[in-house]
Amino acid sequence: GVTTTANLNVLVTDNKVILEKSLKPGVDLELKLSEEQLKINLDVGDFEDALLNMVINANQAIVDSGTISITTYREDNVILAQGSDVVSCAVCEVRDDGPGIPAENLDRIFEPFFSTKGAKGTGLGLSQVYGFVKRSGGTIEVESDAGGSRFQMKFPVHSTAS
Ligand code: ADP
Ligand code: MG
Repeated sequence: GVTTTANLNVLVTDNKVILEKSLKPGVDLELKLSEEQLKINLDVGDFEDALLNMVINANQAIVDSGTISITTYREDNVILAQGSDVVSCAVCEVRDDGPGIPAENLDRIFEPFFSTKGAKGTGLGLSQVYGFVKRSGGTIEVESDAGGSRFQMKFPVHSTAS
């Protein structure tokens, strides 16, 4: 892949139609994009794959009908690794109102081949997402409860200062 500087909100908007095409009837996708433009350095194709992976997971988790939202925002004072300086990040959050992830699985979902979907799952989606955000210098966090799941991909904002 090739790393370029991209605008997070443009990336999300450009993928809206393809993401919607992957949803079952009754599942809606809403975008809530930051007013401020967020520039990040990443492989655009890998980003698109990661977003699609997370939206498909959300779509599969929703039982009958529900909403998936993709929210972007800036978060300052993020510590990406233990002992490292704080940075500002562009956050891309994928949220669903499905049944959530059992607490005992939360530690394992980023492992290759961990899946609860039997023959329908490879368990490779989130491990690829994890590898991508790490290659991009960022991180991924997850929160989940009985009201749904929230995945936050965090990328250091591109700075032109030297
Ligand atoms: P796969 O989708 O092939 O099972 P993934 O790596 O994409 O593999 O996901 C691993 C596991 O994480 C899933 O099998 C599922 O148990 C859980 N998971 C991921 N996303 C969600 C979600 N949005 N809601 C509930 N469970 C999820
Ligand atoms: Mg998956």
